Amino acid sequence: MSQIDSILGIDGLEVLRVDRGSAIHVWAKPKRRMDCIHCQYSPIRIKATHERTLKHTRQGNQLMVLHLSVPKYHCLNCNHYFRHPFKGIRPRHRATECFRLEIFEAHDGGISQHKLSLTHHISSATVERWYHHHLNKRISELSGRSCPIVLGIDEHFFSRK
Ligand SMILES: [Zn+2]
Repeated sequence: MSQIDSILGIDGLEVLRVDRGSAIHVWAKPKRRMDCIHCQYSPIRIKATHERTLKHTRQGNQLMVLHLSVPKYHCLNCNHYFRHPFKGIRPRHRATECFRLEIFEAHDGGISQHKLSLTHHISSATVERWYHHHLNKRISELSGRSCPIVLGIDEHFFSRK
C-alpha cells in the first residue's frame, strides 16, 4: 500500500493521481469491479462512470479533496442497476464520514464554527448541522442501553493527608 493509499484510509481504492496545490487533490477509483449486489453474478457490465467530489480530511494545513470515479453497474443476469458502494462514503453527501467526524470532534473539543469554516472550507451552518447530526446519533446509540440495577462504588483516597 502506497503512502497516499494509507492516508486515504478508505478500503478498496486505487489512487490514480495526486495534485498538491493550495489543497491536496486525489483522484481515485475502485480497485476492482463488484459482483452483483442483488444476485452475486460476476462479471457485470459498467454502464457509466461519474465523478464525485468529496472533502475528505485535513493534512497539515491543507484540505484533502477526493475525486472519486463511481461506476454504475448493470447486471446482465438479474437486470438490476446499482452504483459502486464505498465504505465511509454515504450517497449524496459531499464529504466523507471521516471528514464529518473530524468536524464533530473538533467542534466538540471547543473549536468554533467560525474557525472550522475557515480551516475546513465549509459554512458555519454546515458545522452546526453535522454537529447535531452526530450528537443525535450518539444519543440514539446510548438510549438502547439498559440502566444498571446495582452500582458498586470503590473507596478512593482523594488526598494522602
Ligand atoms: Zn444481478
